[in-house]
Amino acid sequence: AKALVTGATGFLAVWVVRRLLEAGYSVRGAVRSESKGAHLKKIFAEYGDKLELAIVEDMSKDGAFDEAVQGVELVEHTASPFHFAAKDPDELIIPAVRGTTSVLESVKKYGSSVKRVVITSSVVAVLGPYTGSVVFDESNWNNNSVSEVTEKGAAAGGFTIYQASKTQAEKAAWAFIDQNKGSISFDLVTIIPPWILGPPIHELNSLDELNTSQSAVLDTISGKKATKAELEREGNWVDVRTVAAAHVAAAQKAEAGGQRIITSTGTFIWQDVLDVANSISPAPFKTIPKGNSGAGKTFPYTVLYDTSKEARILGVTHVPFEQMVVDSVADFKARGYSQ
Ligand code: NDP
Repeated sequence: AKALVTGATGFLAVWVVRRLLEAGYSVRGAVRSESKGAHLKKIFAEYGDKLELAIVEDMSKDGAFDEAVQGVELVEHTASPFHFAAKDPDELIIPAVRGTTSVLESVKKYGSSVKRVVITSSVVAVLGPYTGSVVFDESNWNNNSVSEVTEKGAAAGGFTIYQASKTQAEKAAWAFIDQNKGSISFDLVTIIPPWILGPPIHELNSLDELNTSQSAVLDTISGKKATKAELEREGNWVDVRTVAAAHVAAAQKAEAGGQRIITSTGTFIWQDVLDVANSISPAPFKTIPKGNSGAGKTFPYTVLYDTSKEARILGVTHVPFEQMVVDSVADFKARGYSQ
């Protein structure tokens, strides 16, 4: 079968491309330009013609995916702008929402062979306001981020704008499916990850270009995250290779059709990154901050995710936290980090 992967040069997407190729799929990677796609052709050279590129400069444009969806059975839509620095809500919300509806419209019009569309959402589309300790599941929606951005506009801030962009994009996808029942022959799965961490295989000229999530791992090792508040900020995480495997399983498991699926490995604090990095022997770098070693062991987590649906339907093997840190450190070292 042939799969279209959107945003194919991204941190997550290159791993999705790799796992699809390994699983025997042919892959069409949608990239912004020929030159951006060159790295993909290079690292997957052994797959020859099983990897082809489609140029989609800007998915906000109508019909952006009209050609790219033709002749594929599967669409993995990962593309969405991911950063917390938006000055204006439109900067993120327009490409996130239009990119999503545009790929679905194109599949409806020109993708008669498509059986399933898998979209990468995020726990920021799930996590609403809470008090005390809460377990979120796939029935939850972060409506709050959307109303906050509607009320405050740019003043809502970059993080809330990102949350709203993902919430609105995923909602638009389910609304499209609902409105087109009867006139489409594909179904939808949304994969909902928390922080995606682990070694990148996309093109990086230097560590300054690391993607938003993995740069937080580097900032921890380098001591840029220095205060107790930063190092002991709770989160949930999943390895990039686990999420990629989940995108393949989501394509293959019949029961996944029509489901939102939280794909998370568990809770962590950034201190845990330091503790694992400091346990590596021989020491990979001259100085790795110590922080408050062991603080993660007794941390009173407040945000948890119910991952029983993922375990039941996708059943992917999760890369453990220690492995994620060890592999990240090895990758930083290979890219010349040496402090
Ligand atoms: P990246 O920034 O590495 O990848 C995003 C991709 O989307 C890039 O290839 C980018 O292309 C493409 N893209 C962005 N805007 C446009 C546009 N207007 N037209 C065409 N392509 C566009 O991020 P990640 O790999 O981390 O994220 C992948 C997905 O996973 C996103 O949907 C993100 O929201 C989601 N996610 C990520 C998490 C994480 O911690 N990393 C956590 C939860 C969800 P280019 O670089 O050329 O602009």
